[in-house]
Amino acid sequence: MSASTPPGGDPAAPGFPAATAPRVATAAGLDGLDAAVSTCRACPRLVAWREEAARTKRKAYLDWDYWARPVPGFGPPDAALAVVGLAPAAHGGNRTGRVFTGDPSGDALFAALYDTGLASQPTATHSGDGMELYGVRITMPVHCAPPANRPTTAERDTCRPWLARELELLRPTLRTVLVLGGFAWQALLPVLAEAGWRLPRPRPAFGHGTEVRLTDTRLTDAGRRRRSAEDAAGGRGSGRRELRLVGGYHPSQRNMFTRTLTPDMLRDVLRRAAATAGLPRR
Ligand code: SF4
Repeated sequence: MSASTPPGGDPAAPGFPAATAPRVATAAGLDGLDAAVSTCRACPRLVAWREEAARTKRKAYLDWDYWARPVPGFGPPDAALAVVGLAPAAHGGNRTGRVFTGDPSGDALFAALYDTGLASQPTATHSGDGMELYGVRITMPVHCAPPANRPTTAERDTCRPWLARELELLRPTLRTVLVLGGFAWQALLPVLAEAGWRLPRPRPAFGHGTEVRLTDTRLTDAGRRRRSAEDAAGGRGSGRRELRLVGGYHPSQRNMFTRTLTPDMLRDVLRRAAATAGLPRR
């Protein structure tokens, strides 16, 4: 492999194996989805990279058996708030098997979740560390660690059905999505549009603190009955549900080091997202 070849191989190179469709249709319930995503091998470059990272390891983790598989979302199945990141880190989630666990981004995120009353403890070190999230589920648009933390758009699109299914399963309770970074924002908007959430036009641009209100174009039976009652009473309610999107900078090492994102900013945006989701918070 030449020095300019991305680790894990160049997906644009002739002969590079094409991605296959992930088998999302078999996933029933969030537990089933988490189990199914963990077996996915749809992106050849990411499969190669996640397994290579587990073989070569980082010096500090030589005694670890890396997870080396897709990392599922983490948090209760009835979450009101989803936090959507980017992808697992090669020596973080790809090592521990839990999203944002065992890397500096996760250290910042879990500390902020704890400070705002949304997590049971301030640090996350491994999947058996006792961490609990309260009303929050953390997930990502790409479930495998990418070289240089940069998935390709093709890999993002290949992984999209997993995110779509996860949000569909969360839909009955989900009120707000906190989107960490522009990559996640771009990945999420088409998923939400396809799921029947009406997006403003032009599509809202990502920014830290950006807040967008989406309406559900698919009325539930309860919503239909409520709207009929409201119409009969001469009211103006639509009976439609809403979903809030809140944008926030990703707590990447770079963003935290350059103070593009500070711990105070991260806590504030989490508090705001939790408030719109109706979650108790500190
Ligand atoms: S990134 Fe997503 S679609 Fe690709 S192999 Fe991993 S889990 Fe499967």
